[in-house]
Amino acid sequence: MLNNALFTVDYSEMVIVKDIDFYSLCEHHLLPFFGKCHVAYIPSNKVIGLSKVPRLVDVFARRLQVQERLTSQIADTIREKISPLGVAVVMEATHLCMSMRGVEKQNSFAVTSAMHGAFRDSSRTRMEFLELIKLRSAVPGLRDTSSNYACVGED
Ligand SMILES: [Zn+2]
Repeated sequence: MLNNALFTVDYSEMVIVKDIDFYSLCEHHLLPFFGKCHVAYIPSNKVIGLSKVPRLVDVFARRLQVQERLTSQIADTIREKISPLGVAVVMEATHLCMSMRGVEKQNSFAVTSAMHGAFRDSSRTRMEFLELIKLRSAVPGLRDTSSNYACVGED
């Protein structure tokens, strides 16, 4: 789907598209979860048209989803299409199924991330990205997380 949106560059700067609104439906409870998606990558020789990134998020969000899988699908698609030096996807979402179940969790976000290449190998690159997107809550595995997951990975 991105085949017409790729073009070549000869430098390697981090490309970030942040605050992409998404709206999806949790496959466990058939209730909406929605929030912001942040995507970054470091091109090797191809880039994706910037307007195509939100469209990519939308394509995967439109299915019944689990937030964790949605996050990896976006990252994996970017990897497959342009083989970047690194790709990072962070999603912050409010899950209605979570809000409805527990009072103390009503204002919490579920945060998921997929980090590959330079974003996994270099903490400096990862922190630069996280600084630029200014998360509202912690990223799993990077800072302390207080079990913010909703139905992510739940049976
Ligand atoms: Zn759910």
